Amino acid sequence: MLFLVLALSAYGQPIDWSKVGDETTRLLSEYLQVDTVNPPGNETRGAQYLAERLREDGIESEIVEFAPDRGSLIARVPGTGKAPPLCLLSHIDVVTSEASEWPSDRPPLGGVVADGYVWGRGALDMKGMGILELQVLRLLARHQVPLARDVILLAVADEEVSNHGMRFIIEEHWDRIGCSHVINEGGIGLIDLFFDGQTVFPISVGEKGLLWGRLVASGEPGHGSIPLPGSSPERLHAAVTKLSRRRVRPTYHPSLLQTFANVGRHHGGLSGAILQSPALVRLFLRRRLMSNPLTRAAVTDTLHVTGYSGALQPNVVPVESWVHIDARLLPGTEPDDAERELIELVDDPLVRFERIQAEPAAVSNWDDPVYDALARRAVEGMPEAVTGPVISVGFTDSIYLRSLGVQAFGFVPFAITQDEATTMHGNGERVSIANLHRGVQVLYRAVVDVAAVDHYEPD
Ligand SMILES: [Zn+2]
Repeated sequence: MLFLVLALSAYGQPIDWSKVGDETTRLLSEYLQVDTVNPPGNETRGAQYLAERLREDGIESEIVEFAPDRGSLIARVPGTGKAPPLCLLSHIDVVTSEASEWPSDRPPLGGVVADGYVWGRGALDMKGMGILELQVLRLLARHQVPLARDVILLAVADEEVSNHGMRFIIEEHWDRIGCSHVINEGGIGLIDLFFDGQTVFPISVGEKGLLWGRLVASGEPGHGSIPLPGSSPERLHAAVTKLSRRRVRPTYHPSLLQTFANVGRHHGGLSGAILQSPALVRLFLRRRLMSNPLTRAAVTDTLHVTGYSGALQPNVVPVESWVHIDARLLPGTEPDDAERELIELVDDPLVRFERIQAEPAAVSNWDDPVYDALARRAVEGMPEAVTGPVISVGFTDSIYLRSLGVQAFGFVPFAITQDEATTMHGNGERVSIANLHRGVQVLYRAVVDVAAVDHYEPD
């Protein structure tokens, strides 16, 4: 009884968000200084950093390694178990940087706080979100929030290279995790995305599938001085030319049409009316969507030649020449069908496709209380902002979780400019302190909405 009274009194107290925001900024600066560049990764260091911060608020955690020094962290704030657990997922690793291209006083592993920003590789992708998730667990514990479901922090290794961290957790540890829902990276707020003065927070509800492989042409080897028809480079060139002439039609996924409608309703006017009508979108926006590479990727199955190989000496014709193919597939296109179409299109028995990896697209149903909470909290207090569901053109660890039936939503509660967006995997990556202050509140409130006893409503 005494415990209950204490719990209620702590939970009832208002949170000093300015203090929490400052703490979040400091923790991100420290986390960015932990070198988890992948390769080689060394994510155990990052997991240990998070484990120490959790311990400060009395939260125990576990580090599991799929290889030496390649650790992922699992931590839990327990609930009554009335609902299945909610997972807050991030990856610990970051991509490499060209340090010479960064401002010299803000190096990639510096975690420098300057000009209203925290600078460093991973600030946006995705140590910033990892720290917001860490803070949500610390706040739940610190304020003794009575929970109807466990809230689990999952910070995993190796998302940027091979996804070994997540796959290892699914194979070896998923039975003790068993989340029904996951919040992960995927969508991030973009200022002036469609219209000036409007910020759009896309929430990723699905990811395109993929088909990766090599297209290999074979032919008679020979001397460069005597061109013969049907050499492997010649066949490969013909095959790639056929692929480049492939006809593609746009497909408008229901998530995209819903986001267009939300954006249109928010903006108003004639363009707003067009965006709210699927028929008018098809009629008036087709050309524009197909001419911008980013939106074209969002509405088509893409087939991208990403590299050539096989060359020997200039005067030697190789037996085999090949290209890398990266195809990304909308929901509804299976990798097997895409491969068949590719082979039919090439139509040459001496050109074969060797598959490297394939995953079908996966989509979570966004008629869902966790989606609703994220959407509501994303735009709270920002009349200039609007939100909606999207299918990401790239994939994250969420693709493996959706295949287990987990509802995964990709949402990072930062609002960034197009310039800031290009710093992810680019130079001068940074996140504003204002985004950290607001983001931690948005995520905490959304989690409390769907996990706290007095908020949780079963569906
Ligand atoms: Zn990422």
